[in-house]
Amino acid sequence: MGEIITLEEFRILKPIECPSRGGINFPCAICRECEIGAVTQTFEENMLIESTVNSVLIHINLDLGDEFERFVLKRLKSELSKNIPQVQKGDWDEGDITILVDDALSQNEESLKKIEWLLWYLPNKWKQLAISAKQVFSKWENQTVKQIVFQFEKVK
Ligand SMILES: [Zn+2]
Repeated sequence: MGEIITLEEFRILKPIECPSRGGINFPCAICRECEIGAVTQTFEENMLIESTVNSVLIHINLDLGDEFERFVLKRLKSELSKNIPQVQKGDWDEGDITILVDDALSQNEESLKKIEWLLWYLPNKWKQLAISAKQVFSKWENQTVKQIVFQFEKVK
């Protein structure tokens, strides 16, 4: 089991009126423009945490072996974000997969536990997920080639 970020680091988040977003409590870790939400960076093992007053972005570095894994991760992020809104769909320069914790989530013990679990699961299981994606693809590749060759040979 790898390093886990503790709940305590998120508890201090509180709502603020972001001046760059018309005074609503927009996550300043994403806005990155206003003075209130100035980003503080903390490095942990395989992670970069960007903290603001009302939100935190956690960027996780994963072991991405090749373009295939990069593609698989992009698809996984996109689909995951539909079901777990804290997972950021887009790419961030700071890491391979990014999770947003806002002040509302930080007040909810159960939600924080889920995020903690995700922060453990993703870096620890990624390689396994990537390998199984490759296996599925290899199977498709072999079957498809067999089918095409079979039909090719039948052509007269
Ligand atoms: Zn802001």
